[in-house]
Amino acid sequence: MKFISTRGDAPATTLSGTIAAGLAPDGGLYVPAEIPRFGVDAFAHCRTLPQTAARLLAPFFADDPLAPELETICREAFAFDAPLRALATPRDFVLDLFHGPTAAFKDFGARFLAACMRRLPRDSDKALTILVATSGDTGAAVGAAFAGIAGFRVVILYPDGRVSPRQAHQLGCFGGNVSALRVAGSFDDCQQLVKQAFADAELRERVPLSSANSISLGRLLPQMAYYAQAALAHWRGTQQPLHFVVPTGNLGNGFACVLTRACGLPIGQIALATNANQTLHEFFAGAAYTPRASIATLANAMDVGAPSNFERLRWLYPDAAELRREFRVAAIDDAAIAQTIGSRFRSHGEISCPHTVTAIRLLETLRGEGADGDWAAVATAHPAKFDRIIEPLIDTKVPVPAALADLLARPGAALPLASDYPALRDFLESGAPGTV
Ligand SMILES: *Cc1c(COP(=O)(O)O)cnc(C)c1O
Repeated sequence: MKFISTRGDAPATTLSGTIAAGLAPDGGLYVPAEIPRFGVDAFAHCRTLPQTAARLLAPFFADDPLAPELETICREAFAFDAPLRALATPRDFVLDLFHGPTAAFKDFGARFLAACMRRLPRDSDKALTILVATSGDTGAAVGAAFAGIAGFRVVILYPDGRVSPRQAHQLGCFGGNVSALRVAGSFDDCQQLVKQAFADAELRERVPLSSANSISLGRLLPQMAYYAQAALAHWRGTQQPLHFVVPTGNLGNGFACVLTRACGLPIGQIALATNANQTLHEFFAGAAYTPRASIATLANAMDVGAPSNFERLRWLYPDAAELRREFRVAAIDDAAIAQTIGSRFRSHGEISCPHTVTAIRLLETLRGEGADGDWAAVATAHPAKFDRIIEPLIDTKVPVPAALADLLARPGAALPLASDYPALRDFLESGAPGTV
């Protein structure tokens, strides 16, 4: 399959080409030139997540040098499950995406991207530096996915003091070829520093750079697999489509759900829950699309004021009126997040992370309006990553899953970095670990 730019002004390329390039040369995002269509029968022999993933992604990999490796890549990336679990309220489910090594759904995309990138041919014998700005979970997932892989170095920038203490610990604990820099600034400052590095042609001569951000199709496409797997299992049991509510920041996970439905999988309605960052909510309420700086909320991994994958949604739904009719979008503020964490625990004994409860809250609203059928809220992170927020609200300890406990048991050390480009450039040039 060929991939084209949302802006229509870049040559079509292969999947490997898009993974190596990140952004298309015209500044747009890569999208598939055509959308494959599947019936449920196409998955008759697929039972496990890696099998479903390999079947679903085969058309996207067709003609690519990575195609012969797709099954191996899927087994390597999808080494843990994404179970659909019933909630206490009838016909409500959660899709648990936090069973990976860093306890957030970002593990699926990061591990798939790493599995692809380590198999791509390289034109330099220098280590490739994956430079990533993170508002919380991406950096840890990318660090975990590339840790110890020869030929790669990971440099993570995060806003000091604006990620949860456990997220910060995780980011600093990999060591070896992974460095975490805590930046005196906001997430937007971190992104700005990363952009400056990518724009620095002289630096890139000496230090080959690559990104792993959520616009990469190497992260986006694998996120379709768990929607397909959950919807197919539900269809086999009930002959009914499954509806989803997706906690949304940059819209990568939400767009993956939309694309899976476009491929013909039995997914019904899709609703998007954001935190108090209003950009999407205002657009869907009829206002012009107005990206802006993000504000800090309890659901920090969704603190996004300019959702990068919105451009892909517009490509799929060029008619704004149709787009607005198609998706229900709600902005859930911190008061509602805190209230929902408390009330779900008191009424049902359920504990969810602040991101996941934005979706559960929207699902409660939809049910209140009479929505029927089976709905799944997407659980994007394990609540134990956000113990400092959750425990005071429920007055109970959140149990820590084994994979997260392993990471937290290691010493964590992030280096301080001024929010200042020369400081980052010097660090990148300072022969840090990972040179091959
Ligand atoms: C990244 C993240 C989100 C938002 O996902 P997007 O793909 O950016 O919309 C939601 N919840 C958690 C826990 C995350 O880490």
